[in-house]
Order: sequence, then structure tokens, then C-alpha cells
Amino acid sequence: MKCPHCSISFHENWQDNEITRDGKRSVWRIRLAACPTCKKDILELGKIKVPTKVVKGDSALEAFANLMPELEWRQVFPLTSSRGPAPKEVPQHIAKDYTEACGVLPISPKAAAALARRCLQAILHGQGYKDRDLAKEIDLVLNENDPSKGLPLSLRDMIDGVRNFGNFSAHPITDRTSLQVIDVEPHEAEWCLEIVEEMFQHFYVQPAVRAERKAALNAKLQAAGKPLTK
Ligand SMILES: [Zn+2]
Repeated sequence: MKCPHCSISFHENWQDNEITRDGKRSVWRIRLAACPTCKKDILELGKIKVPTKVVKGDSALEAFANLMPELEWRQVFPLTSSRGPAPKEVPQHIAKDYTEACGVLPISPKAAAALARRCLQAILHGQGYKDRDLAKEIDLVLNENDPSKGLPLSLRDMIDGVRNFGNFSAHPITDRTSLQVIDVEPHEAEWCLEIVEEMFQHFYVQPAVRAERKAALNAKLQAAGKPLTK
């Protein structure tokens, strides 16, 4: 995981504790990790995902909790994200939505996912992929015929996976609805931001690096009196 304080990656070293009430188990847990680099603590609050039909008094809850329950974790300290800022090559209106998505991620994954989806859409529009809704625009970029515009395989897989998010397919994401808040799991919002970050690299950072290298090469060729590269 990436430390939300100093952004340096470290091996997850969670210590997990139950939260009890009057000596009885609750659906809540708390876990603590310490960053080996900056020594600061990270706290996550966990909630056991209990199917409603199972909750019928403490004993059923306890029985369920004993079966290695599935937990939904949310960062509660610090209330900031290690993500961002956007690379300088990213157009400002997109960078702004991305920064805001990162900022609200620990508080509202739904709001973060909505902003991340708007970033995705803005990136695709900027590249000329425009259709009725985001799912159709994803089709356009995945079916790109121009090999020079082809996406790397890893990014293709990630973008393709966007369509499988929670209620995504039931809610067409258009210009008008891109900020609509729909149910997402916390990890879906993070994943959406990861895709946006990969797209930043592919569509903005790498072309800028290539252009810079070409300019440097041409400067050398020109100095040597040789023909320039195209
Ligand atoms: Zn740290």
C-alpha cells in the first residue's frame, strides 16, 4: 500500500482489532498500520458485511462473524489521500476533477467515483471518442482501428473492466449524468482513479516525453548538419 502521509509504498502491516459493545462483538473493527518511512499511523474502520437475513440477534451475528466475514474497510485517519497531483501535462479542467476526486475519496467513494468517471469521459472526448454515453465511448477507444492510436494491453483491460462496475451499466453516463452519484464499493472508486492515472500517462505524459526527446535529437542533428527526423 501507499502511505497516505508520505506517498511511499510499504508492505501492509495491519493490526486488526474487534470493537465490542458491552462485551459483545459488533459489526465494527478497527485496524492500524504504521508507515516504516514516516512512522505515522494509518487507521481504517471496518464493517462486517452481513446479509440482512442473517442478522437475527447476537448469536446469528456471532456465528456469521466466526466464518471469516467479509469486511468493508474505509480509511478514517488521515482523511487525505496519497493520490495526486495530476502530472503537469494533463489539461487543467481534467486535472481539477482528478484532484477533487482524490480529495474526497476517503470521505465519499461514490463522489470520488463520479468525478473519476467525468475525468475518463473528458479524456476520451479530448481524444475524439465521443458517443451517446461512456460505455459507447469505451467501445470506440477499444475498437480503434488506427494502430498508432492503439492502447497498451494492460490499459485496454482496465478500461474494458470499467463497464463491469456495480450499477454502471444500468446508468448510462452522458455529459449530463457523469456526476450522478451511483453506488460503488470503495475499491471501485480507487480502481477508477488508477485507470485515470494510467490514461494520464498514456495520453498526456508519454507523448510529451516523446516530443521532448525528438526535439533534443533534432537539435543535435541540426548542429551536425544532418537531416531531421519526422
Ligand atoms: Zn509514510
